Amino acid sequence: MEKPKLSVVIPVFNEEAGLPALFARRYPVLDALGMSYEVIYVNDGSRDRSAALLREQWQRRPDTTRVVLFNANCGQHLAIIAGFEHCRGERVVTMDADLQNPPEEIARLLAAMDAGHDYVGGVRRKREDVWWRRLASRGMNHLRERITRIHMTDQGCMLRAYSREIVTAVAASREISTFIPALAYTYAVNPTEVEVEHAVRVAGKSHYPLYKLIRLNFDLITGFSLVPLQLFSLFGMLVSALALLTYVGVIAYRLFVFDWQDANWQEATAVFWDRDILAFFLIGALLFGLGLVGEYVGRIYQQVRARPRYMINAVLERDGDTPPKR
Ligand code: UDP
Ligand code: MG
Repeated sequence: MEKPKLSVVIPVFNEEAGLPALFARRYPVLDALGMSYEVIYVNDGSRDRSAALLREQWQRRPDTTRVVLFNANCGQHLAIIAGFEHCRGERVVTMDADLQNPPEEIARLLAAMDAGHDYVGGVRRKREDVWWRRLASRGMNHLRERITRIHMTDQGCMLRAYSREIVTAVAASREISTFIPALAYTYAVNPTEVEVEHAVRVAGKSHYPLYKLIRLNFDLITGFSLVPLQLFSLFGMLVSALALLTYVGVIAYRLFVFDWQDANWQEATAVFWDRDILAFFLIGALLFGLGLVGEYVGRIYQQVRARPRYMINAVLERDGDTPPKR
């Protein structure tokens, strides 16, 4: 297979009911784009007939279909990484297998790439999901916007297009739990967003119950922000500082009203001793220490993830200038 212009990566987990509709609709749309393409399905350890259906489709359209089969369920985002590792297109579009992302929208993403963007995120115009998920998403989008450097309107939308450079960088990131749209964003030079349609699932039901959604959002927050660790330090400092202020105030008052004439040394010592306030001070110091340890853990975490530290856009130099050997 020649290197195609476009790769479409689709993670598939227990989607047997919807796959025939997906095949029937996707290929005509892609054929109509008039460019070479491949569709990469990553079967994420489905327990239904999805793998068999994908194999049939591969036999039907081997020119434009490639299938990666996982042994076990590793999660949507790792499935997409596997797709990134195996795709060859100049541009890569990710989308869901349940037709919630209409294939017709691919043209819109590609048009934005033609305009010079290397990362195009989809923003669902009218999201067709249950109300509590829409609500939770809004909250998480808001939180992420504040505590990470990732800026996007609709983090949950998987209909996105990436340049070859970004896909290579994501595939090279050796992360285990990650969030592809955010990770790819960190490598983007000129990201943009376009509005896309969203539809109800063709068949089957969502694979994201509440617990899995919470896990996913933990991946997002811990993967791209150290703020949760820093919160402990900040809170600890605040508690200590308040305790200290209270202590100074209380002691000053006691010294003022204390009768030094008839007091013995025990009573005089008691003036300076306030268990509750001092305990708060110590708790604050402990939390600060915990946060400090967290800072180091956070740094270790960043180090072991070993993401590319920077992405070079271009090096301007004469031919033959080679970097010095170290
Ligand atoms: N998916 C996957 N592995 C999983 C869960 C989901 O590959 O563990 C795929 C699923 O087949 C679909 C996409 O990820 O193509 C989005 O999943 P789903 O539609 O269940 O999520 P929702 O639309 O409810 O957010
Ligand atoms: Mg879906």
